[in-house]
Amino acid sequence: LEVYGAPVIGNHEQWLGIVIVLHDITELKRLEQIRKDFVANVSHELRTPVTSIKGFSETLIDGAYKDESSLLSFLEIIQTETNRLETLIEELLELSRVEQSGFKVDAQPTDMKAVIEYAFEMVQPGFEEKQMKFETSLDQVTVAGDANRLVQIMMNLMVNALTYSPPEKTITVRLFEKGNQAVIEVEDEGIGIEPSEINRLFERFYRVDKARSRNSGGTGLGLSIVKHLIEAHHGKIEVQSTPGKGSVFSIYLPIAE
Ligand code: ADP
Repeated sequence: LEVYGAPVIGNHEQWLGIVIVLHDITELKRLEQIRKDFVANVSHELRTPVTSIKGFSETLIDGAYKDESSLLSFLEIIQTETNRLETLIEELLELSRVEQSGFKVDAQPTDMKAVIEYAFEMVQPGFEEKQMKFETSLDQVTVAGDANRLVQIMMNLMVNALTYSPPEKTITVRLFEKGNQAVIEVEDEGIGIEPSEINRLFERFYRVDKARSRNSGGTGLGLSIVKHLIEAHHGKIEVQSTPGKGSVFSIYLPIAE
């Protein structure tokens, strides 16, 4: 709370009273804190790979290049960290694009079944040891959407389900209709999420398990981007989860007339 006070003095210099202005700045302070946290997070996330690229290249230049096995392994680390930087920069740009207040998707009649099948084909080669299945009794479900964006949403949820569950478990994707909504569920039998963390999942850079996310190439930005994209499609996303048992991410999208 900000408080300003000023005396009110009349024409004949007599005291008339005092004016007090109370300004509730809780929301402003909260937004300012979110902005500061975001800048701190971005800096930290960028600095980590840069430090490592710098360190390993200096060590190579200082002589480690003469040893063939160090040469190769250090170059591999430099490559991995450069890729991480690239992903991070791309996702930051993507996030800033989808967060713009005027952001709109180019909505065309799009078959969600074909979108899911395509995303499936794109994701599966990276996770060959894992099981993923797609269940639907529908021939097609048309929503108004941008096919590339919808594929991006689906791929993100599939990769998360695969990343946060052990190899022997199955991921099930379902598509069905409920009233005038297309419902897509991505269910895993993985590590699950504590109830207290569920609300925070869609925050930028929020990760329940930092090390695990980082090792799998995650940035902690994926679900924030997904949420914005779904909202741009006039849809919503919900999560149900039991720690140790698994999670279900459900998307609702209005069916096109
Ligand atoms: P990341 O790039 O870290 O995967 P996301 O924004 O996609 O970032 O997800 C945020 C966090 O939510 C993840 O770091 C992880 O802790 C948690 N999470 C996302 N999907 C799942 C899932 N299917 N099961 C368990 N935890 C999940």
